[in-house]
Amino acid sequence: MPVQAQVSSKENKPKLVVGIVVDQMRQEYFYKFQERYTEGGFKRLMNDGFMMTNGHYNYIPTYTGPGHASVYTGATPATHGIIANNWYVRSLGRSIYCAEDSTVTAVGGTAGNGKISPRNMYSTTITDELRFATNKRSKVVGIAIKDRGASLPAGHLGDAYWFDSKVGEFMTSSYYYEELPAWVKAFNAKKLAEKYLSGTWEPLFPIETYVQSIADDNDFEGPFIGKDNTAFPYDLKALMENNGEYGLISTTPFGNTLTLDMAYAAIEGEQLGKRGETDFLAVSFSSPDYIGHRFGPTAVELEDNYLRLDRELEAFFKYLDEEYGIGEYLVFLTADHAVADIVDYMKSEQVPAGNFNNRFILTQMRGFTSQKFGEGNWISSFSNEQVFINHELAKEKGVSVEVIQRALADFLLGFEGIKEVYTATDMRIHEYTQGKKSLLQMGYNHKASGDLLLILEPAWLSSSYKGTTHGTGYTYDTHVPIVFMGWNIKPGKSSRYATVTDIAPTLSIMLGTRLPNGATGQPIGEILD
Ligand SMILES: [Zn+2]
Repeated sequence: MPVQAQVSSKENKPKLVVGIVVDQMRQEYFYKFQERYTEGGFKRLMNDGFMMTNGHYNYIPTYTGPGHASVYTGATPATHGIIANNWYVRSLGRSIYCAEDSTVTAVGGTAGNGKISPRNMYSTTITDELRFATNKRSKVVGIAIKDRGASLPAGHLGDAYWFDSKVGEFMTSSYYYEELPAWVKAFNAKKLAEKYLSGTWEPLFPIETYVQSIADDNDFEGPFIGKDNTAFPYDLKALMENNGEYGLISTTPFGNTLTLDMAYAAIEGEQLGKRGETDFLAVSFSSPDYIGHRFGPTAVELEDNYLRLDRELEAFFKYLDEEYGIGEYLVFLTADHAVADIVDYMKSEQVPAGNFNNRFILTQMRGFTSQKFGEGNWISSFSNEQVFINHELAKEKGVSVEVIQRALADFLLGFEGIKEVYTATDMRIHEYTQGKKSLLQMGYNHKASGDLLLILEPAWLSSSYKGTTHGTGYTYDTHVPIVFMGWNIKPGKSSRYATVTDIAPTLSIMLGTRLPNGATGQPIGEILD
């Protein structure tokens, strides 16, 4: 690939910006599997792009909703308000979902999957600002299997499409359209999900060549329902019925294929980048997350997924070269979080690790508070490693919330696996600049967050017994790719600490738009100067 051609550009703006979020990707995967990557996928990003090799999330918790919101707003949950995927809301007395919106309805798909919009996200996105910068002549399309992976990146002014697991089609909500555009209907009519799920997931290479992963059949991974082991091959048609119907595609590499099929259709259908304005295509690959949760980062299934995604990206970049010309489009790739190792696997390798039992801790907290402050349900919610104290009960009984916070914080430190506990009061009166407490503060939203914020020991997870998860401020969850390639990007890399909130400000400077209104990240000088 001629490097010069990628750097120079005939135009003073890119025809298209392609934002790629890989849902659950460690920076490590660029190197770990590189021997069998093609020249045109991940390696092309490494060789022709500019990569910040020490890119991190700078807040807790590292989940999908907050991750997508932070990449596109250049802000953290403290500002954009997407503090988790689901969180307890005191005024409602229940949990809400980050992209839920009861005022809108499904367009296509099934009714239950259509109450989706970006309204819970309080700040603008880079995609919003691009629309404003061109008086809305620029188009923005967000695509993902997960609704939050599509709707948050598309911002308040863009279009978003996500996958309905019930009917196996892409859908949207009345926030965006009253009816699906013709190109989406035509795409759905191809029944591609059904086609991909009629086959078998076999490894791309002979199984014994997956030397970067542990044995295919093991006790650490979570088997599908109806299959008693975690070894290839996977008969998808047979597994569909008991594993989420069309939703099964999410836990296979074919979810990535389907997502890109939809991306190609969007480019064609909306004529993205072909109308004399910079358009923005925001793609999020949800499948790596489902595969990563079930099988963990040490699995043959995960390695195979990345080898296949690499090939999908190679084809995608080639397509973009042909449609727009090399150097005429701008790509960035990042992840919404990385992932922890499987607890039992780490234990088997003698690394200290543990499972945190939320239910047990909640019971203990309830007993403690009743004994200390009188009978009653003092804990409204224990979720996302945050405790929500019952403020109404405290008022009724005349006990200061701050006193309860302090007492519970000290009580919780007595449990194995809990490393640090901070109170909401701590978060409000101090300004933390270092350590995990500063990450908590960047994720702490004064109106939405809980009364106590816990930090577990490294490699301790509050999750199910097989497979793994993410959400902490440890490097295994925070260290993700940040790489730009194409229009006005010179090849290179830097190991300076950078954060995902730097991505949107970098794009703002490149595109000459306003910064997203809540942005706290800084433009990446190495890329711009
Ligand atoms: Zn996840």
